[in-house]
Amino acid sequence: MDKFDAVIIGGGPAGLMAAAVAAQRGRNVLLIDKNRLLAKKLRITGKGRCNITNAADIPDLILNVVTNSSFLYSAFYTFTNENTIRLFNSLGVETKVERGGRVFPQSDSAKEVADSLVSYAKKSGAAIISGCAKDILISDGKVFGVALSSGEEIYAESVLIATGGVSYPLTGSTGDGYKFAEKAGHKIIPPKPSLVPLNTKEAWVKDVMGLSLKNVEITLKKENKVLYKDFGEMLFTHFGVSGPVVLSSSAHIKNTDGEFTLIIDLKPALTFEQLDRRIQRDFQKFINKNFSNALVELLPKKLIPVIVELSGISPELKVNQISKEQRKSLAYLLKNLPLSITGARPIEEAIITSGGVCVKEINPSTMESRLAKGLFFAGEVIDCDAYTGGYNLQIAFSTGYLAGENI
Ligand SMILES: Cc1cc2nc3c(=O)[nH]c(=O)nc-3n(C[C@H](O)[C@H](O)[C@H](O)COP(=O)(O)OP(=O)(O)OC[C@H]3O[C@@H](n4cnc5c(N)ncnc54)[C@H](O)[C@@H]3O)c2cc1C
Repeated sequence: MDKFDAVIIGGGPAGLMAAAVAAQRGRNVLLIDKNRLLAKKLRITGKGRCNITNAADIPDLILNVVTNSSFLYSAFYTFTNENTIRLFNSLGVETKVERGGRVFPQSDSAKEVADSLVSYAKKSGAAIISGCAKDILISDGKVFGVALSSGEEIYAESVLIATGGVSYPLTGSTGDGYKFAEKAGHKIIPPKPSLVPLNTKEAWVKDVMGLSLKNVEITLKKENKVLYKDFGEMLFTHFGVSGPVVLSSSAHIKNTDGEFTLIIDLKPALTFEQLDRRIQRDFQKFINKNFSNALVELLPKKLIPVIVELSGISPELKVNQISKEQRKSLAYLLKNLPLSITGARPIEEAIITSGGVCVKEINPSTMESRLAKGLFFAGEVIDCDAYTGGYNLQIAFSTGYLAGENI
């Protein structure tokens, strides 16, 4: 096989972006992906809608990176979120901005985003083949190519590892890049699940499975220390909780030693006093009804039996017999619904892998390894991760762009 200027392992958003940019610089680039269908993970992002990036300004983008945000300064300022939006618009993907600055394709189609990125890489002149990289070829501290599982060897001046993390392995991200990086002497921060649903001790979550709460505030605590607070949407599942705010909170559970509690404020727009007055009004309205029938205007139907049970107030008690103390403790419960977190779901179910190639050994301005000449990294394989909101794809695009400029 010919010798290439650069071989890129991985045809996800990071690898495809790098391939396009390097090819436009006139580099003879070959991209290899183990899947015939490129950007497999990108196609399922944002529940099939793809939250491409976030429209926040750059300091805000950086604030939304949970791990190693300062490593990303150069990447975020070189290829910004505006560049991402402009690029996709130029590729024919119209975009729209939704709640929280989340940018989506107008078509709500992740497939459109993925297809446009693949054709961008191809049109820019990158060669693309399907194949599985087995190893990188390295000697005297310099890479010189990639060995494939087929036994074939491909020679190149530069090799970019853009193999992603280890979550959702059916998409092709199975952690191969860590092995390659270790061969070059890189330290790997042990992979952990991030942006992952959480298991709870409380069995009642099963009874409300499928219930999505749109405007709640959650507080994640370890013992008495607040680790994370957020406002938005969450979801109950058969094992516990999920949805955007819960996923973001999971980024703060670095290990499961200790007691974690998730407190849900079901009425964050009301102060305790306002909520108490609201309950009084509802009780007035339903004065002759049983307690269990007096919460219909306050709570989603599915949640009422749970709250009735947790309140300790008999469901049959007439509303006019509920004491002031009982009413106030109900208001407290609605603003402080507690869940004991027993752990995170497995890494295979995580949106993001936290951990990966240690950033200290990568040049943040070029994405080149500080240990092996010609070796580059981009995307989720690097030890950087962010909250939900389009930030993780922006990491892939920005680091992919920088690598593409320098391979
Ligand atoms: C369900 C889900 C929803 C998500 N939604 C969003 C969202 O809306 N917004 C957002 O910002 N982020 C989202 N993310 C995260 C985002 O998808 C990832 O951060 C992003 O895909 C990482 O890009 P990457 O190019 O680094 O890696 P990947 O997309 O994982 O791509 C890596 C590629 O490398 C290939 N590969 C691996 N090993 C080899 C090998 N040995 N040889 C050849 N090829 C190999 C794989 O086949 C794969 O195609 C979501 C993730 C998931 C799982």
